[in-house]
Amino acid sequence: MSTIKVNIVTPDGPVYDSDANMIIAVTTTGELGILPGHIPMVAPLEIGAVRLNKDSSTERVAVSGGFLEVRPDQVTILAQSAELAEDIDTARAIEAKKRAEERLQQKQEDLDAKRAELALRRAMNRLDVAKGK
Ligand code: ATP
Repeated sequence: MSTIKVNIVTPDGPVYDSDANMIIAVTTTGELGILPGHIPMVAPLEIGAVRLNKDSSTERVAVSGGFLEVRPDQVTILAQSAELAEDIDTARAIEAKKRAEERLQQKQEDLDAKRAELALRRAMNRLDVAKGK
């Protein structure tokens, strides 16, 4: 089965650098599946899971927004933050989810509500990815 090189990079450094048979990511216009030979493109990413299929296994990465670029020989994901499923600190994500939910329950400025909503989505995404979803 053919493969394509995949790089996931964040401001803190590289998170993933390997080959995959297929990459599935959540873009702002929906889920996108990329196979080797996909046409070059750039797409903005949502907070969501990136799934990397190789042979019969799937590696999951929690990504908090950013961009995906497809080139003929490589897929690059530039993410605000990204964690491999096995590196996710579940207790930390549960605490972050709780804090965000509390902030959303309090009456606050719109800007704070938006920030809390994004924090909640990041935490829930990390919990889903850690669970293998
Ligand atoms: P928190 O409130 O727990 O910091 P956050 O959503 O505000 O969560 P981010 O700003 O998205 O955190 O990420 C800051 C850094 O911490 C990034 O390097 C990110 O990969 C890492 N990180 C955040 N939450 C977790 C987690 N639950 N497990 C592992 N790494 C995490």
